[in-house]
Amino acid sequence: MKVPFAKVSCNGNELKYISEVLESGWLTTAGKTLQFEQLIADKVGAKYACAVNSCTAALHLGLEALGVKEGDKVFVPDMTFTASAEVVRYLGADPVFLDVEYGTALLTPEILKEAIANNPEIKYLILVHFGGHPAEMTNDEGEGIIDICKKNGIKILEDAAHAFPTRYKGKMIGSFGDITCFSFYANKTITTGEGGMLVTDNEDLYKRVKTMRLHGINRDVWDRFTSNKPSWEYDVVAPGFKYNMPDLNAAIGLAQLEKAEEFRESRLQAVKYYYNHLSDVEGLDLPISKVPFEDHSWHLFPVVLNESSSIGRNELIEALAADGIGTSVHYKPLHHMTYYKEKYQLDAEDYPVAEKIWKGTITLPLFPDMTKEDVSYVTKKLKNYVYGNISL
Ligand SMILES: *Cc1c(COP(=O)(O)O)cnc(C)c1O
Repeated sequence: MKVPFAKVSCNGNELKYISEVLESGWLTTAGKTLQFEQLIADKVGAKYACAVNSCTAALHLGLEALGVKEGDKVFVPDMTFTASAEVVRYLGADPVFLDVEYGTALLTPEILKEAIANNPEIKYLILVHFGGHPAEMTNDEGEGIIDICKKNGIKILEDAAHAFPTRYKGKMIGSFGDITCFSFYANKTITTGEGGMLVTDNEDLYKRVKTMRLHGINRDVWDRFTSNKPSWEYDVVAPGFKYNMPDLNAAIGLAQLEKAEEFRESRLQAVKYYYNHLSDVEGLDLPISKVPFEDHSWHLFPVVLNESSSIGRNELIEALAADGIGTSVHYKPLHHMTYYKEKYQLDAEDYPVAEKIWKGTITLPLFPDMTKEDVSYVTKKLKNYVYGNISL
């Protein structure tokens, strides 16, 4: 039996919409992208959406629009993908890495408050909704991350690469911070192959992002060819980037979006099976959800082997691979990555929680078409190894 770590589901209207694009003769950014932007904005409850060719591009454009420049510092969680931090470097600014909470791998209001007390000059935060679990944006004490940032004049760029669709207290992620960025990379919750989306309620930020998305040109190509002003006439107002999403990709995204809730529900079924069958395994710490399971996008299901596990993480990965089970690791913390470690002289002792997670973490297979047989096979094998080869 084989269970891959992730598998894309493309059995909806993908081909139909791609054919429409091919027949239209216009393959790059046009009507399909506009439609995709509108639907994503509606879904997450944001005023504006800007489709780009990756979430990394969205993060870069977002930071640029927020005004991050050379010499600035930006809070970034230590436990994330390098894209969350590299975009800070694109602008010549420096990431300041923060340790995370055990069980969720999130930044919490407490962590943020302490970080602000130690670095009162820092005015930007990149917030990751790890695995699809929303960070604590608001709370009853009025001390949620949004409140703390407002009080301290900190602008938030949300890296929601894992968090589509995620809800927090009845509102979608995408309707909280200054700017939110989603990823439609091949193994994310919905995909366009490669792609991303930036959403915001702020018209000025939106205008800046839209201009910088396409070479700093003040009119986009679609507008140039559809409006009645001459199409050759445009101005360049900044040295922008080439980050627009082609209609071919948006076509896939439109079909995926139709199934986003169905995909989430299917992943949730597998997740429930994991909780039901793994909660009693002493050597395993399961991810903690502080929100109702239905509000979590369940992009990832990362478990952590603790001291009572009879097998180490690397050994377990190999054993499961020999059984035909694909797994992954989210993440090797950024303080372990040569570039960040050397440039900022990072010390593992300053990130005890990320360190603890990293030593034992393994992400289990999770994808919409996962069958009950798949998840039961993974669970059985895993239990067997973590208990110490007791035959079940
Ligand atoms: C995947 C990912 C990104 C980058 O997404 P791309 O669309 O591949 O650029 C950024 N941040 C996190 C946390 C991710 O997992």
